[in-house]
Amino acid sequence: MRGVGRPPTPTLPRKGGGGKAASIPSPAPSPSPLAGEGRGGGNLSAAQSCAHCRKPTTLCVCAAIAPIATRAQLVILQHPQEQDHALGTAAIAQRQFANSRLVVGLSWPSLAAALSRPNADARRWGVLYLGPLKQAAGTKRVLTAVGSDGAPLADQDHLIAALDGVILLDGSWAQAKALWWRNPWLLKLRRLVLAPPHPSLYGALRREPREDSVSTIEAAAFCLAAIEDDPTIVERALAPLKLLLARHGGGAPARRPDRRRHLRR
Ligand SMILES: [Zn+2]
Repeated sequence: MRGVGRPPTPTLPRKGGGGKAASIPSPAPSPSPLAGEGRGGGNLSAAQSCAHCRKPTTLCVCAAIAPIATRAQLVILQHPQEQDHALGTAAIAQRQFANSRLVVGLSWPSLAAALSRPNADARRWGVLYLGPLKQAAGTKRVLTAVGSDGAPLADQDHLIAALDGVILLDGSWAQAKALWWRNPWLLKLRRLVLAPPHPSLYGALRREPREDSVSTIEAAAFCLAAIEDDPTIVERALAPLKLLLARHGGGAPARRPDRRRHLRR
């Protein structure tokens, strides 16, 4: 995900199509290190970017990478056009979680194929779904498993804790939508809805299309913290993102808030 893909419902395209789960408008053209790296702006050349975190060398966050061990696996399915965006956090998330996998493509024949393993139980895998949530009053959870109707399922704690892993779709709204439709096996997975406990750290730099939009690494951190029942995962996981934002903020001019290229990272 440039951000966390927000899969549409199988029947109803989202009204207005405006929201993106972890989408973040790209910066306006500027002399900052991120300039020109937005959507369609071309890829970073190998000479200018770190081979590990894929950030421009001036924004390399490898010093803050400290792989976190988790039982559940993080799997990021990344749209091919989503690679190498300077503001993306998928590659950082993949490095920050020891038990993770980042695969680029448009479609896979099955969950097992996407996971590159002989078999997988779809009922024990979650896919982040950011459609409308019908939630019972007073039960605000960071991560909720919902049915195909969007209503929370019973026995949340058990369902979430039993997950073998979570799949995030990395791309713009349109790209995540494409991934969703091209991979019908995703419908068999547990649908997870994320309610970020706090605004995205990107908030100071960009105007989010939705208050609950977060970057890919933030979505991964919230999901795994919930699945593993370990709140400390969030703080640890986001150290590289904080470094990225600090380095970016060090030389970037103010953004133009009206420029909206929604990058999910
Ligand atoms: Zn690096």
